[in-house]
Amino acid sequence: MEKILKFGGTSCGSIESISLLVSIIEKNVQSQSKFSVVFSAMSGVTNQLLEAGSLASKGKKNALDLIDEIENRHFEVVKHFIPIKGQSQVIAHIRTLINELKDVLKGMTLLKEISPKSSDLLVSYGERLSTSMIYHILREKELNVCFVDAREIIQTNDNFGKSEVDFEHTNSKINAFFDTIGDQIALITGFIGSNSKGETTTLGRGGSDYTASIVGAALNVKEIEIWTDVDGMMTADPRKVKTAFTIPTISYAEAMELTHFGAKVIYPPSLQPAFAKGIPIRVLNTFNPDFIGTVVSKKHTSSKYIITGISSIDSLALVNVQGSGMVGVAGVSAKLFSVLSKEQVSVILISQASSEHSICFAIEPQMAEKVQNLLNKEFEKEIQSGDIEGIEVQKELSVIAVVGEGMRKHTGVSGKLFSVLGKNGINIVATAQGSSELNISVVIAQKDLSKALNVIHETFFFSQLRTLHLYLVGTGLIGKTLLKQLAGQERFLAKYRGLKVKLVGIANSRKQLIREEGIDLETAIETVNNEGESNDMASFVEKIKELNLPNAVFADCTANKEIYHHYLGLFQSSISVVTPNKVANSGPYKQYAELHQTALSKGVKFLYETNVGAGLPVINTLQGLIASGDRFEKIEGVLSGTLSFIFNQFVPGKSFAEVVKQAKEKGYTEPDPREDLSGMDVARKILILSREIGLKLEFSDITIEKIIPTNCENASSVDSFFEELDKSNAYFENLVNEAYKNGNKLRYIAALENNKITIGLREVDANHPFYQMDGADNVIAFTTQRYHFRPLVIKGPGAGAEVTASGVFADIVSLGNLA
Ligand code: ADP
Ligand code: ASP
Ligand code: MG
Repeated sequence: MEKILKFGGTSCGSIESISLLVSIIEKNVQSQSKFSVVFSAMSGVTNQLLEAGSLASKGKKNALDLIDEIENRHFEVVKHFIPIKGQSQVIAHIRTLINELKDVLKGMTLLKEISPKSSDLLVSYGERLSTSMIYHILREKELNVCFVDAREIIQTNDNFGKSEVDFEHTNSKINAFFDTIGDQIALITGFIGSNSKGETTTLGRGGSDYTASIVGAALNVKEIEIWTDVDGMMTADPRKVKTAFTIPTISYAEAMELTHFGAKVIYPPSLQPAFAKGIPIRVLNTFNPDFIGTVVSKKHTSSKYIITGISSIDSLALVNVQGSGMVGVAGVSAKLFSVLSKEQVSVILISQASSEHSICFAIEPQMAEKVQNLLNKEFEKEIQSGDIEGIEVQKELSVIAVVGEGMRKHTGVSGKLFSVLGKNGINIVATAQGSSELNISVVIAQKDLSKALNVIHETFFFSQLRTLHLYLVGTGLIGKTLLKQLAGQERFLAKYRGLKVKLVGIANSRKQLIREEGIDLETAIETVNNEGESNDMASFVEKIKELNLPNAVFADCTANKEIYHHYLGLFQSSISVVTPNKVANSGPYKQYAELHQTALSKGVKFLYETNVGAGLPVINTLQGLIASGDRFEKIEGVLSGTLSFIFNQFVPGKSFAEVVKQAKEKGYTEPDPREDLSGMDVARKILILSREIGLKLEFSDITIEKIIPTNCENASSVDSFFEELDKSNAYFENLVNEAYKNGNKLRYIAALENNKITIGLREVDANHPFYQMDGADNVIAFTTQRYHFRPLVIKGPGAGAEVTASGVFADIVSLGNLA
């Protein structure tokens, strides 16, 4: 015998998969290799049988309905593959099995009882049905096949539910049997065996792989092929990590570690017999049969990655035994684990602090209560005396294992693992590293599992390409421009920055949409408008938090005055915020401080370069100076594009009212220009800068000198405002003439000096950095200890959608460096 093939549940589960399976078998026949095949039950059948058993044990008759469903699935397949004239014989055969199965269930229903022994008999029908069915299909194809009930060749002990194989008897039975079948292809039921009395047993869930391995090892085959529904063993469970990819070669030890820890793709003990004989196992995809898949063999082949794969157990409980009386007292852990082993509780992971003050271990959550009671009883004396504080149980946890032989040679794997989890706000409840250094495990909250798997996977396998998950709020001018810029730079970012900005959520004042798989940047606005649901910011943010994606950023591109209320919660959920919206930073100082502190403590960023001077690098420059130890003496700025334009245009001979009108017509002002002329917006900006250099100023600390006289300010409408402004012409004429007479110009300047902010119209002379200005430029001058004699000046267009969006863009990309 050269090969054993094994087809899993999904490969036997449908007409489509069985067609594929048949052609794989035919191909093997054509290549004249000598082989046999092991089959699982049709997918889902084992679970249905177990459920039927549980219903029957409660006396419920609807257990039989499940069997009807199973029967129909098999009949459908038979009717598809077997021509009408042969069908009745095959259907009769299947029906005989189904009737036996129903009798077993009826017995259980009457007795209202299910034992491990009767349960094994019950589930054995899954493999017996599927293998019989496929036997008939292959016979129909005139292949030289024979049906083998594995109970004839695999002998186990009486440990029903998960029996141990008696290899001595099994190996001789297998060899004796195969001596009798000549050239026939044996079609063997997976998963089942029998004890020395001939009673049906099973090898544990997923045990068909084991069957293949036992038979393969007994016959000394050259290779075992495990045919399943994925492209081999992958770097992580592809259902949980979309970017998982096939591991071409893996050592037995690594595969054991990965599969033991949750990856179902092969069943752990199944490797052992093959391992002992050095038989390679190939994991292949029935649905993609030409793909090379994974070879599991003796040696580890080095790869470019430090780790080989990641696996997880979704749900477990952690038991903590703690107390000062445990320190240095030999035997506590011996006693502990002997109790657990006596009760057949399997321990998934153990972690003990070197102080010996506590031991914690992970078990299946269903066992938690039992274990707690057991230990409370066992350690009753120690608990009473206070040597042990108590037995504490934590639930709703998951464990992730990072596996690979390459870790032995590398330092820093756990550092990298812990730091990426920390950065994403994922708390590590416990950790353990096997002394083989093949596996580092971390226990985390179940709600963080998917996020953790994905960031770990990205960190170890895609360090070249990081993904930022972007939620965009606001699809007005800035939001729209930002999307356009992101789309235009997509390829550049991937190629030169190793960064993918994936838009996963978008909202505007009307609609909102979240799509984990990503939203096309170019059509995002149409998509949200057409396919989104109606907007409700609170539920949008709730969904973002629930989705719990790694490296997430929330971009608030609105002028909305309420959205900032969500920032704190976003930070607490480890989501960064990027925004041109000034509301959050210019509110009460307490709020400013709380936002910044929370972001800092959560390891996320709050970025708002565009709060001042749009895309001009004002805040970054300021923060850079502060971080490098410089001290600010003075900040001066023309911080409003509108007012900059107005005073650049307002020269002797022009009417102030006309200039303001012109600014309004060009769209430079708010609908009511008084909002610009009030200086409030400028005040917010300088207030933010003052806070950036560490001052705890409030809005009320700012002195704003008025530009316009009270009559203009109080006008009842925009039109009457312009009328009043006309009437005040002489006042403005006087101001500008005075300035020009002195060789000066008028500028609306915000200044911060000696911890005080003043804002007002000033004359500047020809030596002043603000003397030469154009259009709607912003300009800002930092006078510091280092820039003492000549200030550092930043000047340029400080408003407009393009430059603001590009500032937001730069903030977002800077987060990618941290991801
Ligand atoms: P079969 O029915 O063929 O025995 P299983 O359901 O037992 O198949 O195992 C295949 C499944 O294992 C895949 O569909 C996949 O979702 C899951 N799986 C978990 N971890 C991994 C992994 N690291 N690589 C491949 N598959 C995995
Ligand atoms: N049918 C069994 C199960 O579902 C065995 C197997 O598929 O490997 O566990
Ligand atoms: Mg399986």
